Amino acid sequence: MLVGSAERMSDTPSPDTSSPDRTRGRGAPVGDVVLAIDIGGTKMAVGLVTMQGELIDRDQVAVNHDLQADALFATLRDVIDSQMERARGHHHVRPVVVGVGSAGPTSPQCETVSPLNVHAWRNFPLRERLGVATALPVYGDLDAKALAMAEGWLGAAQGRESFLAMVVSTGVGGGIVLNGQLLDGAGGNAGHIGHIIVEPNGRRCGCGARGCLEAEASGSAIEAITGRPPSSPTYEIMQRTGRLVGRAAASVCNLLDLDLVVVGGSVALGFGATFFNSAQEALDEHTKLAFSRGARITPVRLGDRGPLVGAGAVGIRGMHRARRAARSSAAPNA
Ligand SMILES: [Zn+2]
Repeated sequence: MLVGSAERMSDTPSPDTSSPDRTRGRGAPVGDVVLAIDIGGTKMAVGLVTMQGELIDRDQVAVNHDLQADALFATLRDVIDSQMERARGHHHVRPVVVGVGSAGPTSPQCETVSPLNVHAWRNFPLRERLGVATALPVYGDLDAKALAMAEGWLGAAQGRESFLAMVVSTGVGGGIVLNGQLLDGAGGNAGHIGHIIVEPNGRRCGCGARGCLEAEASGSAIEAITGRPPSSPTYEIMQRTGRLVGRAAASVCNLLDLDLVVVGGSVALGFGATFFNSAQEALDEHTKLAFSRGARITPVRLGDRGPLVGAGAVGIRGMHRARRAARSSAAPNA
């Protein structure tokens, strides 16, 4: 069982200190959980995450690309209803908040989402729909930022104050935790490492620029460049992808005084040691400042639990912030 501690990370989840209500007899809820939701381009997953970060149940549904927006949401709602039922009936826990990690673009808190590979949802009002479906407060964030929180809470960056987390998959995403705070930026988009330039005058990126990491090293870029799916790569493409990811990561380490980069995603993990060795070599080559020298790049540790644990962390973070805001607005003026 996972029992994590994140006391040093002031804005990310820490162990629940409230005592569970065990006084209402058998079958009554004995603990609070987050209803965690991960929205991706191929599947939508829903799970129950305890305040300690344990994923106690999960279910998922494939994204049916033939459905319109509302019908697609109905397939997600079925999985939500079944997890809510399992929470009460099977686990005797009480969902108290919804946390969402979603493929981008999204607006802050996933008020609306337009996941690139989910064409039916363009400015889809996900937060409102989830609020109506669950009668719970809903907090959301980009999937890569959610994963950064999960890895900092219980994964490869556990207990670290500052690190970069990356997802190298169909696209390339990232999240940055600096001095214990997940960086948001003005519109919540901080951490878009996929658009760091790694090949001047390189391939045209979906964003309009040239030579972005995403245009050179994402799964879809690899397929376009090599004519082969990233699941059957050549040795050279695994090395090159690692090198470019290491190059981009080095810029971020130099910029933000970081020495740990955690990388997940099907492309990076699928390419394995060849990818990580090449990435580490490039990172070594480009981090020469006294504070960035020795920076390390390492695989994520939570595996396929990461996205839902991350969505759980998003829910807990949102809840903590809302409580703080309520307390400060209730405080008498000095
Ligand atoms: Zn770009």
